[in-house]
Amino acid sequence: MNHSACRLFLAFTLVFALSVQPFAQYKNGFEKERMDTSCKPCDDFYKYINGTWLKNTPIPDSEPRWGSFNILNDNNRKVLKEILEAAAANKKSKPGSNEQMIGSMYASCMDEAVIEKQGYKPIQPLLTRIAKINDVNNLPTEISYLHSVGVPALFNFGAQPDAKNSTTNLAGISQGGLTLPNKEYYTKTDEKSKELRVKFVQHMTNMFKLIGEDEAKAKTSADAVMRIQMKLADASLAPVELRNPNNRYNKKTVKELSELAPNFNFNAYFVGRGAISFNDINVAQPKFIGAVNGLLKEIPLEDWKTYLRWQVVRSSANTLSSAFVNEAFNFNGKVLNGTKEQQPRWRRCVQAVDQGLGDALGQVYVAKTFPPESKARMDKLIDNLVAAFRERIKTLDWMSETTKQAALTKLNAFGRKIGYPDKWKDYSTVKIDRKSYFENDLKVAQFAIKRNLARINQPVDRSEWGMTPPTVNAYYTPLMNEIAFPAGILQPPFFNPEADDAINYGAIGAVIGHELSHGFDDQGSQFDEKGNLRMWWTPEDRKKFEARADCIVQQFNSYKVEEGLYQNGKLVLGESIGDLGGLTMAYYAFKKSLEGKPRPANIDGFTPEQRFFIGWAQVWATNARPEFERTQTLTDPHPLGRFRGNGPLSNFAPFAAAFNCQKGDPMVREGEKLCVIW
Ligand SMILES: [Zn+2]
Repeated sequence: MNHSACRLFLAFTLVFALSVQPFAQYKNGFEKERMDTSCKPCDDFYKYINGTWLKNTPIPDSEPRWGSFNILNDNNRKVLKEILEAAAANKKSKPGSNEQMIGSMYASCMDEAVIEKQGYKPIQPLLTRIAKINDVNNLPTEISYLHSVGVPALFNFGAQPDAKNSTTNLAGISQGGLTLPNKEYYTKTDEKSKELRVKFVQHMTNMFKLIGEDEAKAKTSADAVMRIQMKLADASLAPVELRNPNNRYNKKTVKELSELAPNFNFNAYFVGRGAISFNDINVAQPKFIGAVNGLLKEIPLEDWKTYLRWQVVRSSANTLSSAFVNEAFNFNGKVLNGTKEQQPRWRRCVQAVDQGLGDALGQVYVAKTFPPESKARMDKLIDNLVAAFRERIKTLDWMSETTKQAALTKLNAFGRKIGYPDKWKDYSTVKIDRKSYFENDLKVAQFAIKRNLARINQPVDRSEWGMTPPTVNAYYTPLMNEIAFPAGILQPPFFNPEADDAINYGAIGAVIGHELSHGFDDQGSQFDEKGNLRMWWTPEDRKKFEARADCIVQQFNSYKVEEGLYQNGKLVLGESIGDLGGLTMAYYAFKKSLEGKPRPANIDGFTPEQRFFIGWAQVWATNARPEFERTQTLTDPHPLGRFRGNGPLSNFAPFAAAFNCQKGDPMVREGEKLCVIW
């Protein structure tokens, strides 16, 4: 899927059960019992609105964090479970029908007896293939084969829209091959980073032992993988560097790519992939490919084979027996995220079907849960948000007419997707049965991989979605200049048909505004109305925009996560511009919606304007484990919930006015510290 889609929220793991009162039951869309009124709204609004809920709501043991997104996800999973259990129980469904496929995949995943008996047998053919490699010159063909069965190694290859000609897909190759979340996990030298690497090597050692290596061999193997990944990490770009779309775009001919890496036979690789022939390819990070070329000569063949073995084991672990699943959880769940126990098997299986056969499952999900009226109501809300954005752009005092016209052209061209795809994916070529979960998982992976490769040099299919319908999230894709809202997020507390407009504008309204604002954030603003990477700003306006953006960088750099760890302002810039812009647009859209109508009454003592901000702060309520917060801070372009809740409000004068906050209050930024863009 497209790397540069900007999501509302980055989900690391699945979700879990705890009976928490769903927001739908709050009669006004908010509940005073959630609040902590001992905290003043102008001191810490997030705590004022959510404090009692935060204090009384433990994180389930199977979760790294718990908040509105998770609770909704949890509810969605329960609906999906019912669908999948019914489909699995019907053994007479028509072969090849959606019901048969999702039911069989779920049943195979739930069949732990068979999975246990298989141990790691399913990956033995791959391990044998790797053992037989006897020449470094055969690596391209073998890596090609591994990529075609979904095992990542060294780099990524696939089709993506050409960022400078976004109606056509281009072949693309980018940095890859690491296991830890990003380059910095390998290169940082602080104690916690070093300690994590020691644990990672231990984790690899444990996995190698599970495939039959003795202690000494397993340790040597783990060290070899670490040496290779440290070198790949050195050659990789860091997350902040990758935010610049120009650091991801370098169109070359296949011949130029081959000259860049003469030690790696790319022709053999492409032939192995069965990709159609093509002349042009986006070499996202040429320096990385150059470094790989050097490593091919430098690293002994036996070490490469060990590295590939690791890539096979770790990418398959969750489909193998419990020894593998548990070891993967020990590292990915416990060490990286602080999660105490695994999710029940059924939740992992629901997730697997959603990931592999999302459109087949999604069709049943939306028929069951998504009323057509919701689509119409969202359409109207989006219209209102776009109208508010249009007005704001026209009144900006820092932007020239020329840039304003270009910004309006872009805004008017935004595409939108609501609920679910108009055209569902056809999985009829995939044969799913109840025999082997590993095989099913492999088949759906291959389906997705082949489908992607077939797009090279083909027109971009604009009907394609980047998320499945039950997903509790939303996104903007700069390459299509399009916003999307899956059915899964169109529920309380984001979208509450029972609540008044104020709460809805503060929640889903701000979510819509957030996605629209991504079209104008540090990355999105470099793409034009057609989704092409093209500078449409005048140089003077761009400078002013960057100075305003830098104010937000400084603001988030000052937010302390834990001792010695702060938010990385440059990493979270796009999301934070999205939040500030989204909040602003939603507020003005809400005010406009009140024009010509009698003023809505106060509810529980809160004015309509105050309720708008309550709607905003509620969606960010999150409890998270320290390990998870650390991982999120180091890897995720989204700031922590508490900073998302308060950060934008402290820059927004109507918030201070609504709660009568004064200069000097913690929720009021002023002077040079006050950040305003839109
Ligand atoms: Zn976002």
